[in-house]
Amino acid sequence: MLVVRKYGGSSVADAEKVFRVAKQILEVQKAGNQVIVVLSAQGKTTDSLIAKAKEINPNASRREMDMLLSTGEQQSVALMAMAIHALGGKAVSLNAMQVGIETTKTYSNARIRTIHRERIDNELERGNVVLVTGFQGVNMLGDITTLGRGGSDTSAVALAAALHADVCEIFTDVDGVYTADPRVVKDARKLDEISYDEMLELASQGAKVLHCRSVEVAKKYNVKLVVRSSITEAPGTVVKEDSKMERMLISGVAADKKVSRISVLGIQDEPGKAFEIFNLMAGENVSVDIILQSTGHDGLQDISFTIGADDLDIALKALEDNKERLTAQEIAHDDNVAKLSIVGAGMATNPGVAALFFEAMYDSGVNIQMISTSEIKITVLISENDIDAAMAAVHDKFQTATVNMRKD
Ligand code: ADP
Ligand code: ASP
Ligand code: MG
Repeated sequence: MLVVRKYGGSSVADAEKVFRVAKQILEVQKAGNQVIVVLSAQGKTTDSLIAKAKEINPNASRREMDMLLSTGEQQSVALMAMAIHALGGKAVSLNAMQVGIETTKTYSNARIRTIHRERIDNELERGNVVLVTGFQGVNMLGDITTLGRGGSDTSAVALAAALHADVCEIFTDVDGVYTADPRVVKDARKLDEISYDEMLELASQGAKVLHCRSVEVAKKYNVKLVVRSSITEAPGTVVKEDSKMERMLISGVAADKKVSRISVLGIQDEPGKAFEIFNLMAGENVSVDIILQSTGHDGLQDISFTIGADDLDIALKALEDNKERLTAQEIAHDDNVAKLSIVGAGMATNPGVAALFFEAMYDSGVNIQMISTSEIKITVLISENDIDAAMAAVHDKFQTATVNMRKD
């Protein structure tokens, strides 16, 4: 079998953990498999590199940020190769340039376009465990790019797809995908399996156990994807096309605290204003999520929207610079907000789901600022101060409702 494994930062945080993972990898190889391992930067390395950059230049260019951040992953693969060598095994570490992981041009949020397999194939043939840096690629200018925070999952799945691996296993610090973040909601339940679509919504709404794009790639290329613990032997969660699990009302609750809201207030109520605002955001590579437009009053209107918290400064600057052209009276923002979402393929056929969700919000006295829905998801924007309690309340409400439903 050809196996791709990915270990997250917490799983390789120190020498002891590096050796534990090295032993696991060698066992898989000894069992007769070819093994490719994607690694993230150790522990909080990426965060500390970001902090270092901020000390020097808070407005560092995205190109230089990528150059800096990519070093974290390079440390991990080299250290892992050394550990495997120390244990008498064969391994080689490769960065994105050596493999040939080509991405789009965009720094800090690049997408993988092509992965060259020759070098990896050669190394596997030589009996090496191939250790590949996660999170990074190379663009057409020959520069290092990164894939966005949490992007090593995507590196692993894209490698599995490109090399037609038999399985892609994501090893992390929890033993699978849960109905809510198990660190916040104590009685969250582990799912044995979940569909690509549901996982995609959970991931895009902040359940950071998988990088959103890794699920997109897995779905597109039908990669067998498993989320497992790097500490216990528990079987984990299988992410696949069609989950045959008994349908619950919802499959999970997700929270995203890294969100900011921008309100462009008092704009002339005429065609083209929304286009101008969102065109500006697109020009800055800022993804916009929930959008709310007020009904006009006195010939004026307000447009509010949410973006990732990391993009707030760039977005505000672009709007302030164009305030007059947008005819805006004021540009306000709030970064003390968070998104709470419920996700489940069952909700399309269950009219009571929305009501239960809003009842849980009401019961816990949480004020809703914005709402957005899709066929399998409802999201609300609330104050960040309320998010943990609201997540627990909503999870509890659906847990109880599902138990009651089973009794009927
Ligand atoms: P890694 O460093 O291995 O990539 P991450 O920190 O990126 O790990 O992702 C794992 C974390 O995701 C868990 O520690 C957990 O707190 C969080 N998480 C959020 N939502 C969920 C969920 N629904 N199921 C499991 N874990 C979740
Ligand atoms: N090291 C990167 C990050 O912290 C990528 C990853 O962990 O997946 O975001
Ligand atoms: Mg991660």
